[in-house]
Amino acid sequence: MRAAITTAPREVVVRDLEPPGSPGRGEVLLRPLAVGICGSDVHLYDGDDAALSGSALSGSGPGLPRVQGHEIGAEVMHDPSGRLAVGERVAVWPLLSCGSCHMCAAGAVNACLQLSIIGVHRDGGLAEQIMVPGSQVVRVGAVSDVVAALVEPLSVAVHAVARSGVGDGDRAVVFGGGAVGQGICLALADRGAEVLLVDPARARAEAGELWGASATTDTDRERLRERVLDRTDGRGADAVLDATGVPAVLDTALDIVRVGGVVVVVGLSSSSGPVHPGAIAAKELSILGSSCCTGEEFVRAAELAGRWASALDRLPVVRHPLDQCGHALAMAHRAPDAVKVLVDVTVASAPEPRPEESV
Ligand SMILES: [Zn+2]
Ligand SMILES: [Zn+2]
Repeated sequence: MRAAITTAPREVVVRDLEPPGSPGRGEVLLRPLAVGICGSDVHLYDGDDAALSGSALSGSGPGLPRVQGHEIGAEVMHDPSGRLAVGERVAVWPLLSCGSCHMCAAGAVNACLQLSIIGVHRDGGLAEQIMVPGSQVVRVGAVSDVVAALVEPLSVAVHAVARSGVGDGDRAVVFGGGAVGQGICLALADRGAEVLLVDPARARAEAGELWGASATTDTDRERLRERVLDRTDGRGADAVLDATGVPAVLDTALDIVRVGGVVVVVGLSSSSGPVHPGAIAAKELSILGSSCCTGEEFVRAAELAGRWASALDRLPVVRHPLDQCGHALAMAHRAPDAVKVLVDVTVASAPEPRPEESV
């Protein structure tokens, strides 16, 4: 089978690998269809250990060579348990937790101290076949390859929105219009919240309208504060969710959230910068982190993706064939108009341009 292997920082080779064989007890063999490239994939590809340490991905530094890819939309090739039919469309919850650390004991398996992530700590979806534990495989119904691959970033969003506690009629501000930010807007809208999405790239900001969010590309702090106060009868936002990891965004969030409000930080980042801690005390804010998601939340994301599939299919995405996987990883941070860069695993290479097209 063909697979894309990250052999060293910024080096990807696409070559034949031994296929995983027949599934044993508790295993399912899958054929990945589309695989999303995420910010964390780019950190691993870049060898950016600083961004990875202290996160769910820590310990992944010496993990190369690796078949990357944890945002996996796939179809079932063989499930010996008979739970899943051949050809059934599924998504993969990529987290394997230890079951014995204090976070696992508390039910927060998403923040397990010895997390092993498919596509990070063990081989992932950028291959024509993958074997995974059946417990990780979730049905997605008759959705497109892209929507199946978007279930994973949507699951990260579902957890962040659960952390925020936002409910019907609440007014939220979301920073960052990538796949997680869009998923947050979707999950907030699904709960009946009013959402403002902030992203300097027009296409990403406007994609928020798919879920009924208001959108702005204006990140100027003063104007943003005016706008939020205007929309909230002078109170400030009930919740601010940051899917950027940019320190200045956190400081702006402290400024525009209401007294007694909630700020949720989702972005994976190695940068640091000044924040104004006095605002946290004076406004008695709750500042919460959010990492990955639980198995129940992944199932909920698959259900949400099914209900919102036609809107998710209209997101601006960029798709590369498997042979251009290295290019996809290198370009993922430089596609400001795309909400997600994906690899079409079943497409080996881009079609040769016909002579009349190359003129
Ligand atoms: Zn991801
Ligand atoms: Zn654990």
